[in-house]
Amino acid sequence: MHDVVIVGAGPVGLLLACESSLAGCSVLVVERDPEPRSPWKADPLGMRGLSAASVEIFHRRGMLRALLTASGIDEDPDAKPDADEPSPPRGVGHFAGMMLDPADVDVAALPFRLPGPAADGVMTTLEAVEAVLSERAAELGVEVRRGVAVSAIAQDDESAVARAGEHEYAARWVIGCDGGRSAVRGLAGFDFVGSEPQFTGYVVLADIADPEKLRPGFNPTPTGMYLRTPAAGYIGMLEFDGGAFDRSGRPTREHLQAVLRRVSGTDVTLNDVHLVSSFTDRAKQTTTYRQGRVLLAGDAAHIHSPLGAQGLNLGLGDAVNLGWKLAATVHGHAPDGLLDTYTRERHAIGAGVLDWTRAQAAVMKPDPHARAIQGVLRDLLGTRDGTTYVFERLSGSSNRHDLGGEHPLVGRNAPDFRLRDGTRLGDLMRDGRGVALDFGTDRPLHGAEMGRESRIRYAAGPACNDLGLGAVLVRPDGVVAWVGDRDPDRGAFEQAADRWFGGPEA
Ligand SMILES: Cc1cc2nc3c(=O)[nH]c(=O)nc-3n(C[C@H](O)[C@H](O)[C@H](O)COP(=O)(O)OP(=O)(O)OC[C@H]3O[C@@H](n4cnc5c(N)ncnc54)[C@H](O)[C@@H]3O)c2cc1C
Repeated sequence: MHDVVIVGAGPVGLLLACESSLAGCSVLVVERDPEPRSPWKADPLGMRGLSAASVEIFHRRGMLRALLTASGIDEDPDAKPDADEPSPPRGVGHFAGMMLDPADVDVAALPFRLPGPAADGVMTTLEAVEAVLSERAAELGVEVRRGVAVSAIAQDDESAVARAGEHEYAARWVIGCDGGRSAVRGLAGFDFVGSEPQFTGYVVLADIADPEKLRPGFNPTPTGMYLRTPAAGYIGMLEFDGGAFDRSGRPTREHLQAVLRRVSGTDVTLNDVHLVSSFTDRAKQTTTYRQGRVLLAGDAAHIHSPLGAQGLNLGLGDAVNLGWKLAATVHGHAPDGLLDTYTRERHAIGAGVLDWTRAQAAVMKPDPHARAIQGVLRDLLGTRDGTTYVFERLSGSSNRHDLGGEHPLVGRNAPDFRLRDGTRLGDLMRDGRGVALDFGTDRPLHGAEMGRESRIRYAAGPACNDLGLGAVLVRPDGVVAWVGDRDPDRGAFEQAADRWFGGPEA
């Protein structure tokens, strides 16, 4: 029996496989699709924006170089200038189709931002992300079994079983990472609640007879919205039909052309349609991410429209949050209730993303009220504060897990502190342990991790920019668990270490 069976080898399932395997679990991934490659994962349809918070995950596990290479980005992550003050981001993105200018981000106002190899988002593809994670999973000894469609789940107090036809895959824990139409979610009895759609959206790769009739970029119109991307023939469109289009079949060329004409107000002509996919802004989330020995992560736990480019980022965040907690539970050194902090922390972040996409759908609605709100928002987003606010939301830097604790850094993603010897926090996190960083010179925390060395790595030395802090304890998922001042309290450190990592081994 494996420690963990993961259903679904999408990006979230693969990252979770890497994380739990790195933390010492035996992991099997079962995947319905026989082949990993698909035109839906490649450029242009598989293009995905990774936020800085997601890029940081790759940095911390030593996979950033591979990610950049697989994404066709010719950049050496180690060659970033060793500045100690943050620089403006390369891009911000959009809110409800309103593009924002990165030069308007007030970098000085961003909380706890430090420069580093992963300070910016990356434009990549699903294919690239999955290739990098598959390779790492293989290095870690994870087995991925393809052509296995899970159709039944059973569990008792000791184990859970995923069944596919005649085959049974038993484990101490089964994790559904099987996407927005998750079978595991229904089979394990999760409640899935939220709001019904207002629009049907389409992404289409087609030969367009007269593309010049479509304006480049996002175009909110009196009847919906369309997007003409720089890739030839690749367009997106939203029609506010209440989600009425029957998505069980492939939309015809005639239907797509009619929708495009309606939302663009042009007589544009679509010739051959090569690929098409539809989606809605249905926004739903399971009420819990755990039912006994079955858990969910990624789109299996939450669905929403792609507005704001957040689903993948949200799912990768779920995977790093869950992997080490699962492993600590398997190995028996998890403090009481550790696994349940997964739902508590990630459900709240997911709910925030669902609302972010709902807000955009409400603003884009083609009616006079929404148009009036658009005008107000355009003014607000044209300000430095407005752009900075959206950047914080999209980059993941506003995410704060509620861990209790008063210091405003606790619960946030740790800044990539650089010690004077050049070592970065990200470098110290390769093996998936937590990190105790002690910036002081008299080392009050020295040896405080003793007995927990397999779970916490201690590193001491002055930092190039310590943001005025004396010490930090960072969890394996990069979340700050505790912050000490210039004269850190060793007792408080040990309490935090006990709370997240368990007590010292005898
Ligand atoms: C047009 C569009 C643009 C997007 N752009 C962005 C973006 O820029 N940034 C962003 O963060 N997000 C974006 N997203 C969302 C993002 O693609 C998803 O959130 C992400 O792919 C979810 O990953 P996942 O691993 O949870 O699920 P999936 O990628 O859906 O993977 C699930 C896997 O489970 C397998 N599976 C399903 N059922 C079974 C079964 N019964 N048994 C075994 N295996 C099964 C599937 O074959 C699949 O491999 C976009 C989405 C769309 C539609």
